Amino acid sequence: MFEDLSTKLESAFKSVSGQARLSDINVAETVREIRRALLDADVNYEVARSLTSAVKEKALGQGGLASVTPGQQFTKIVYDELVSALGQEQEEITFSQVPPTVILIAGLQGSGKTTFSAKLAKWLKDQGKNPMLAAADVYRPAAVDQLRTLASDIDVPVHSIAEKDALRVAKEAVSEAKKAARDVLIIDTAGRMHVDEHMMDEVSRIRQTVNATEVLFVVDAMTGQDAVNTARQFNKQIDFDGVVLTKLDGDTRGGAAISIRNVVDKPIKFVSTGEKMDTISPFYPDRMAQRILG
Ligand code: GDP
Repeated sequence: MFEDLSTKLESAFKSVSGQARLSDINVAETVREIRRALLDADVNYEVARSLTSAVKEKALGQGGLASVTPGQQFTKIVYDELVSALGQEQEEITFSQVPPTVILIAGLQGSGKTTFSAKLAKWLKDQGKNPMLAAADVYRPAAVDQLRTLASDIDVPVHSIAEKDALRVAKEAVSEAKKAARDVLIIDTAGRMHVDEHMMDEVSRIRQTVNATEVLFVVDAMTGQDAVNTARQFNKQIDFDGVVLTKLDGDTRGGAAISIRNVVDKPIKFVSTGEKMDTISPFYPDRMAQRILG
């Protein structure tokens, strides 16, 4: 994860580590290298700019500290700024006071929605919840079967119907969940290859109809700035509550992970790092910053 970026940042810090103290000249040079590393990693331009100007200001403000080397000083400053760009604190999903909590899973086709829906169900089950799934991705032919197979592996029930009626699946699933005393209902919605009005409209209608507690937007981290642009478009239309970053296991650059929080002003709530059911984790900004710094 993030190998390319880690290597470039490390080399930027190395250039100051031989210096006895931070001077204006080597601060400016190192900050330039950090900015280049971030842009090479496909970090959004504005995010890279504001992150590096904060780093520069702090580095210049601190001057030379007797107790640490300039390299260590820079690493700490960049770490703090990364944690801040990533959202500072871990943000949990909201649970409804009156069960079931309804979580809508939205995103483009192939982003990992169906896999994540099942993983989230397993994760919640491991936390002592009693989840249920609904297969409202009625257009992709294999999606319903895929969800059924995954759900059976983790022993969680799925509501699905033969008709291609996403709204009905969702509505019925809420009644089913209530009847079966399931405290969380996760609804896997349909994606498209590209952002499209019909998809947004369907997600919005399902959200209203089921009075969703939480809408999570799933995005493939490996798609870099495309991921960020898609997030921006989705957010404008459906004002989601949180982001799920998938396929971080294959992401060597980290551009989407670092940019998305700032661009859409919504927290990253979960990350997915593989195809297996246990490769899901809540998102911790500090741990992610540590990974980025290698
Ligand atoms: P959907 O169309 O959004 O429902 O996407 P799927 O859940 O079907 O996922 C698309 C592909 O990505 C599948 O082959 C998944 O196994 C794979 N996938 C999903 N999440 C991850 C992940 O975090 N890492 C990796 N390596 N593959 C993933």
